[in-house]
Amino acid sequence: MKKLAFIPMFILVFVIAACGMGEEAGEGTDGGSDSDEGAMQDAAEEIEVTMYDTDDEEMGTATFTEADDGLTIELEAEGLEPGMHGMHIHNAGMCEGPDFESAGDHFNPTDASHGFDHEDGPHAGDLENIEVSEDGTVSTEVPAENVTLLDEEVETSLQTAEGTALIIHSGEDDYESQPSGDAGNPVACGVITEAQ
Ligand code: ZN
Repeated sequence: MKKLAFIPMFILVFVIAACGMGEEAGEGTDGGSDSDEGAMQDAAEEIEVTMYDTDDEEMGTATFTEADDGLTIELEAEGLEPGMHGMHIHNAGMCEGPDFESAGDHFNPTDASHGFDHEDGPHAGDLENIEVSEDGTVSTEVPAENVTLLDEEVETSLQTAEGTALIIHSGEDDYESQPSGDAGNPVACGVITEAQ
């Protein structure tokens, strides 16, 4: 134990020393180039969304990652009923339980009908059903091919004035019924993008 304790101490001292040197160097060159950082990092985007249940308790995370091959959602959650559940992106960035009506309707900037199996569908915010295990947990990755985090200028951008939210429903989305696939009540909600 005693020997191990020296290792983090050494690293800590080294980090403090490195920070001190960095500051001195910055002062010496009048700091004119600091604002360049971050400006070139828009080729990929990652947003971690905290999911809440109807009692406003945290029950998981949904990580939105977008690169050249598209946007995917990696969902890790617990405390859900086993079985299939509809999941959609909604058109308001607010999660007020217990009904989550504050999150609005499905994100639908192209004025489509609901559902992958509808001839005029799907909504941009429609997603594949998720399957929850017998123990109430889910760990899955679903594509979100019809929306984007990268280009704020296109109509399918999730960076909207109203913001957006991710909703998990109590039941399965039949991919056809209007307006939301007969998927039942919202049981979980997370803000993807805040209202601007
Ligand atoms: Zn829909």
